[in-house]
Amino acid sequence: MVGGGIVGAAIAYGLARAGEKPLLLDEGDVAHRAARGNFGNVWVQGKGAGLTPYADLSRRAANDWAEFTREIEAVTDTDLHFRRPGAFYLCFSAEDLEKRGEMMARLDAAATIKSRFEVVEAAELKRRLPAIGPEVAGAIFSPDDGTANPLRLLRALISGTVALGGTYLPRQPAEKVAFSASGVTIDTPRGKIEAERVVLAAGLGNARLAPLLGLDAPVRPVRGQILVTEKVRPFLAYGTNFIRQTLEGGCMFGESSEDAGFDEGTTLPVLRETARRAVTAFPLLRHVQVVRAWGALRIMSPDGAPIYQQTDDGRAFVVSVHSGVTLAPFHAGPLVEALRGDGFATPAYRPFSPERFHVQAA
Ligand SMILES: Cc1cc2nc3c(=O)[nH]c(=O)nc-3n(C[C@H](O)[C@H](O)[C@H](O)COP(=O)(O)OP(=O)(O)OC[C@H]3O[C@@H](n4cnc5c(N)ncnc54)[C@H](O)[C@@H]3O)c2cc1C
Repeated sequence: MVGGGIVGAAIAYGLARAGEKPLLLDEGDVAHRAARGNFGNVWVQGKGAGLTPYADLSRRAANDWAEFTREIEAVTDTDLHFRRPGAFYLCFSAEDLEKRGEMMARLDAAATIKSRFEVVEAAELKRRLPAIGPEVAGAIFSPDDGTANPLRLLRALISGTVALGGTYLPRQPAEKVAFSASGVTIDTPRGKIEAERVVLAAGLGNARLAPLLGLDAPVRPVRGQILVTEKVRPFLAYGTNFIRQTLEGGCMFGESSEDAGFDEGTTLPVLRETARRAVTAFPLLRHVQVVRAWGALRIMSPDGAPIYQQTDDGRAFVVSVHSGVTLAPFHAGPLVEALRGDGFATPAYRPFSPERFHVQAA
């Protein structure tokens, strides 16, 4: 396995649980690591609007989260803070609310795994979320969304991998990967590693590594900026699309999406707008202190959906996704079964091949 973020670690954990002995190579502190800067939503609403199989994938993973949590907590004794009370997608105009409701209905009609949702008008929203501000026009509520602590998830996946017999090598980047007589050779600063097979799960690093093995991961960085507040009394028991209150009491705000290259910094205009929207949504946040802010890079494919691809001989695989928290149970479960069985050369994985980006317009 190349890449010890949430995706690589989830796959390594699943492999170790299945009795394999995965070797997980990770780059280290200089790397771009979305796994350490994300929001922690286990999010289904609207996922797959451009590629319906992605809707089914997200729904299946979210439905598996509770069992996944129980199991990993038993192995690692780590509470992932997973909760699934449902979430509100907040809309600031009646038009937005209507459009969002229509999109959700279309998506649900197309998806095989159904997701429950309802359009909640302003008065009803106020009843359910008493702290909501007067400028919020309504929301889409789905009981299928949840939240988890992403850092606890990452730690549990890595410690679970090691507890079950896998090996984790931090600060050991794959500089080069190439096919060899017996499988694949991985060049690292500490020497060469020979493996029968390799899974590339290096986040943004996949864009460089995948072509070395004839694979394709056309992912680009999309920056998100997040603010965290001091701890306050509980007022938000549900998730939302851009504000959540953690179990410890701090609030996280963030929904920005920028093309800023590989710059992981923060900017005042984006942070100011993020805070303004949070206070508009929940005016009681007006006097709450922000204690931290960071930027992190999403791993974005051209259509936002996952990339799963393998070489014809099944020696190399690439996995690139931008919702690694949500999809963690899928990566540790069904995807690992595929790696140990028929690989990605089955109808279930075909929609996620990067070949979809090279289809000529008719
Ligand atoms: C602001 C923001 C908010 C987000 N919110 C959510 C959310 O609410 N829910 C959700 O599901 N997802 C969310 N995501 C997405 C989620 O964080 C990513 O999908 C997930 O982290 C991807 O995991 P990854 O392991 O592929 O990549 P990363 O987490 O980036 O990890 C890649 C790893 O590969 C390693 N690496 C890179 N190159 C090499 C190399 N050559 N050799 C060895 N190792 C290498 C790096 O060290 C790193 O540890 C968010 C992302 C951002 C940026």
